[in-house]
Amino acid sequence: IFEGLAEKLQNTLQGLRGKGTLSEKDVDAAMREVKLALLEADVNYKVVKDFVKRVKERSIGEEVLKSLTPGQQVIKIVNDELKELMGGVQSKLNISSKPPTVILMSGLQGAGKTTTTGKLAYNLKQQGKNPMLVACDVYRPAAVKQLEILADKVGAKFYSEENNNNPVQIATNAVAEAKTLGFDIVIIDTAGRLHIDEELMDELKNIKSSVKPHEILLVVDAMTGQDAVNIVKTFDEALGIDGVILSKLDGDTRGGAALSIRAVTDKAIKFSATGEKIGDLEPFYPDRMANRILGMGDVLSLIEKAQSSVDMDAIKGLDSKMKNMDFNFDDFLLQMQQIKKMGSLKSLIEMIPGLSKQMKNIDVDDKELVKIEAIIQSMTKQERANPSIINGSRKLRIAKGSGMQVNQINRLLKQFEETRKMMKQMSNFTKGKKKMKFPF
Ligand code: GDP
Ligand code: MG
Repeated sequence: IFEGLAEKLQNTLQGLRGKGTLSEKDVDAAMREVKLALLEADVNYKVVKDFVKRVKERSIGEEVLKSLTPGQQVIKIVNDELKELMGGVQSKLNISSKPPTVILMSGLQGAGKTTTTGKLAYNLKQQGKNPMLVACDVYRPAAVKQLEILADKVGAKFYSEENNNNPVQIATNAVAEAKTLGFDIVIIDTAGRLHIDEELMDELKNIKSSVKPHEILLVVDAMTGQDAVNIVKTFDEALGIDGVILSKLDGDTRGGAALSIRAVTDKAIKFSATGEKIGDLEPFYPDRMANRILGMGDVLSLIEKAQSSVDMDAIKGLDSKMKNMDFNFDDFLLQMQQIKKMGSLKSLIEMIPGLSKQMKNIDVDDKELVKIEAIIQSMTKQERANPSIINGSRKLRIAKGSGMQVNQINRLLKQFEETRKMMKQMSNFTKGKKKMKFPF
């Protein structure tokens, strides 16, 4: 997602970053490029127009152009406005204070309702909730089976009524049953149609008035681009929805739907789905999306991941070391060990777009880590602290000690130098971000 857009915006804004002074003309020229990039990403025309206008107005404000870092400020404004475009803050599900919370799933056929129902149940289970999944797509027996399999996989309660083809009754009975049995969430999966028709809407409206859902979610396929916006509009007008789940974001390289829906319809995207697996559903974070588009990486996700698995005390101090460039092989070893705890190195690197480009030439095979550890273990204390003393004969000794070839030692030394450079870049990048304490 956002691939083309990200590249274009980053190139355009990169041109502004370095400039010491910025004129209105520079801003104008850059905004023309921004506009084209957004339109090419299939973002709604009016949204693009308003967006560019706002960025321009804020950018040619006195304090921006006269500041010491006008380019950076414009980038920040673009980032802010992208975030606002997607709703600013993450929008959560309405959870009823009196359980069960009833969630009604709606959407066109094939949008991903049933799959998403399973994913949502999984997500809620992970938060300690106890969901019941209700099969109200009575027209296709396969849809009932599909939901049952998903419920099994997630370990959620499954509810269906074999000889009943009245979805309103089934939904009503299910909510009553959930109350009796003590389930705190009821997710009702419904039938879709290929196109919006009155019959579909009436059925949904009837379910709505019978079970009074706390949350009506519309699942839309991100790959439909601008069409997604119209679908949201139509469902909201006919049924009234509380939020959107954008499915199949993994197949959408442009991002038009993700960027237009909130601005056009005022309906928040609450989750996005990026695959067919049960774990492929994430809350939709406008700030992280904006950061991703501008190549600032998904730093927050990374930090969350780091905080959940890494011994933060063990890496304290690396931060200042990376600024001062006195990072040595002992630190490198420590860093490797921490990275290993966080999972695959490749998946981490992919979260930082800027970094993934840098790392292209660097081997990110996780098995390499074991070899690297062996090599560092074979270095003396002095060599680890001061790698520049490692000459030919030392290399030979280290190679023998670790069971490697000299060229592998050379490669590690080179890799180490690149890491140092990269860390310096990262530390420049994160300057001013208090929360960023990460060993890259
Ligand atoms: P429904 O008719 O709205 O219930 O749609 P389904 O849940 O049956 O999904 C239709 C198809 O889309 C299935 O083949 C799903 O596996 C697939 N699908 C759903 N969500 C995603 C997603 O986020 N990414 C991808 N790649 N496929 C998805
Ligand atoms: Mg279905």
